[in-house]
Amino acid sequence: MAEATSHEKITVCSPATGEKIGEMNVSTADEVRMAAARARIAQKAWEGFDFKTRARVLYRFRDLLIDHKEDIADTLTAESGKPRGEAYGNELFYVCDAIGFWAKSAARYLKPQRIRPHLLKSKKIFSIHSPLGVVGIISPWNFPLVLTIGEAVPALMAGNAVLIKPSELTPLTACLGVELALEAGMPANLLQTVPGYGVTAEALIDCADMISFTGSVETGKRVARRAAERLIPVSLELGGKDPMIVLKDADLERAANACVWGALMNSGQACISIERVYVEEPVYGDFTDRVVKKVRALRQGASQDDVELGSMTSEKQLAIVESQVRQAVMKGSKLLTGGRRLPHSHGLYFEPTVMIDVDHEMEIMREETFGPVIPIMKVKDLDEALRLANDSRYGLGSSVFTRDARKGWEVAEKLHGGSVCINDSLVNFIIPDAPMGGIKDSGLGRRHGAEGIRKYCHQKTILKDRLGLKSEFNWFPTSKRKVAILKNGLNLLFRSGWKRISWK
Ligand code: NAD
Repeated sequence: MAEATSHEKITVCSPATGEKIGEMNVSTADEVRMAAARARIAQKAWEGFDFKTRARVLYRFRDLLIDHKEDIADTLTAESGKPRGEAYGNELFYVCDAIGFWAKSAARYLKPQRIRPHLLKSKKIFSIHSPLGVVGIISPWNFPLVLTIGEAVPALMAGNAVLIKPSELTPLTACLGVELALEAGMPANLLQTVPGYGVTAEALIDCADMISFTGSVETGKRVARRAAERLIPVSLELGGKDPMIVLKDADLERAANACVWGALMNSGQACISIERVYVEEPVYGDFTDRVVKKVRALRQGASQDDVELGSMTSEKQLAIVESQVRQAVMKGSKLLTGGRRLPHSHGLYFEPTVMIDVDHEMEIMREETFGPVIPIMKVKDLDEALRLANDSRYGLGSSVFTRDARKGWEVAEKLHGGSVCINDSLVNFIIPDAPMGGIKDSGLGRRHGAEGIRKYCHQKTILKDRLGLKSEFNWFPTSKRKVAILKNGLNLLFRSGWKRISWK
């Protein structure tokens, strides 16, 4: 929780207790411009280092992240309300693994690639990648380390400087990360934070060479419009309403466990959380009973080691969750467990919730909930499940559970979205080798895989003549004979069958 004061400060409060835990200055537009100017100077030197040298700095940074894991977990849990297990198991794990992955893979993805032309064999062609310059990262509050420092790692390995505009709700973790990077020997000004609200983020769009944005659809569209004014590239990782389909031949125990984890990890505040579940009629009752039993067994609390669920992070998001649940209940949906703010708590806790008798007239099945809610809908068959799953303005992740490998693949091909897990959920986010992103309102571009680092680069094609002739056939001067040869050459090259040798 954070609010602006008249002194242009961000006050950071614990969402679990409401207590103030930190304060920092908002970066003004001028300060953002100055930070970008400093970053540009640092980037020039960094670009000159080879991949191994950049990797060495990042490995030292990783060592420091591990040495300071307790401090990072303290800061993360305090400002986000998530349990310590998630601070270590999701956030630190992801960032440390990402450092190793990009340190090793950057050269492979970015080395010059030989292109062998299909026709003009006398030309030697290469595609090369060079850094963009200053990358601006604008982040949400749900993964304060992963979506700031974690996102910066491939951009840095590609030779860029990075300015991070962390969420105003959770800026402390990113600032701590940047301090540790400096301590690890990262060149001064190469990686900086510019804390603030929307105005600061807009100033960053106005001076960066590329924007990597993660956040809501509405803000994402605003970012794209502003970036379009300067024609700078953007990648947009936006919201989702990820469907899960459970077919009648599924391993129900695995499906139920995957559902509870995939929907409630980080209190459901993950972009690829399971947000709606479609279950084939014959197994609907059994599956739902299992899910309810498992959800009732979950423990909820503040930043402890032995709880599965923490508080939510944003009061605004909690109000959306409450409103969607209330509206669904008013329209006839039934709560099997949960459904309200945790009683007798000052924090932003919402009980883990399972609802049935839901339909697509309800926001809970159409709009992003981003909270600990599992709405389950009975469907008569796979066709109905697919039709409903694809009836969405979003297209981020999805999952299908079946023992039939061929059917699983078929469903995966038919689901609209950027990723599908067969008999699994969420795990694709922590596999940096696998591209991840959305279609429709869920965004543009990909993180991870080749695109996850090439998006931070200019691609350039270099062509070299191999023969060294004094002139080329199609160069000046033109003659009637050349034109006749060109005309007939079209027949020879592009006509089908015997007509190739026709002179007409
Ligand atoms: P948000 O869009 O409100 O804010 C995201 C960031 O944008 C913040 O840093 C904010 O200060 C900044 N911002 C605000 N106004 C801006 C403007 N005019 N121009 C530029 N930037 C501006 O999102 P949020 O509430 O912080 O995060 C929740 C959303 O993020 C959810 O919708 C969720 O789905 C999405 N998300 C997506 C992914 C993904 O990978 N697809 C991951 C995590 C979160």
